[in-house]
Amino acid sequence: MARPSLIILISLLGGAFRLSAQNLPKGEIVATFSITEDITQHVIGQGFKYKSIVPPGSEIHGFQLSPADVKDLNRAEIVVGISPLLEPWLQAWAAANHQEAKVVWLDAAGQTNGTDPHLWTDPREVRQMSETLHKKVTGFPPVNNSKESYESWLGEIDQVDAKLAKLFADLPADRRAFISQHPNLGWLARRYGLRVAGTILSSGTAEAADPSAFHFSEILKLIRREKIRVIVTDEGQPGGFAERLAQDAGLAAPVSLTFETLQPKGREGDTWATMMLRNGRRLHDALLAP
Ligand SMILES: [Zn+2]
Repeated sequence: MARPSLIILISLLGGAFRLSAQNLPKGEIVATFSITEDITQHVIGQGFKYKSIVPPGSEIHGFQLSPADVKDLNRAEIVVGISPLLEPWLQAWAAANHQEAKVVWLDAAGQTNGTDPHLWTDPREVRQMSETLHKKVTGFPPVNNSKESYESWLGEIDQVDAKLAKLFADLPADRRAFISQHPNLGWLARRYGLRVAGTILSSGTAEAADPSAFHFSEILKLIRREKIRVIVTDEGQPGGFAERLAQDAGLAAPVSLTFETLQPKGREGDTWATMMLRNGRRLHDALLAP
């Protein structure tokens, strides 16, 4: 067998070196849920395998990892979540398995706007989180996205922000307050001059999902005192309390929104951008309804 020439050897080594320098992930890029997955795909780009831990429509806050989820997390090259406040189950897994190094928290500053970890309802925060991720993944794994496509994602975020600002601008001052199912719309409200007058649940976790009769009468009083006209529920979550509240207060049926999860592929709201615009329109129309 002829020995390969030095030139061929060098070029073979060069090829191998390029491949390992590219550090292509053997496993997957795992995101905590559909919204962090969408942000991550836009920032890191094509050419990787993506997976979400929490299935669409499932409750993210009190999520419990299955053995299959743990396998996915172990196999993942990087895991992307919002913050330990939103996904305490990811923090617990990372700490117990000494895997903190591969977890990227998008809310690097640990902001919470009170106790509300739903930063993605404010596009400016999505821009900030995208920049955080972009910086973190530069070099590991390589950002496969072209600069143009990352820039166009930032442009898309800015467009969503401009559209929502324009949409909510026409609401009179007395049409800007609402009650939400759980404290998830503080960031949206702050960005667009709305007001969350109260929440039915004090947190997103299932443990808090049974509000008391006392809480019911307190919210009812608040609705009457502050002339609140809109109650927001989270689609897929039990809405009986909100419905009784609306009936007793003589309001229209609660408006069901999906700020917590993306729709199945092919439906309106299957990306962060369309989810924001769809929910924004529904909330706006409910606030403005006669
Ligand atoms: Zn939530």
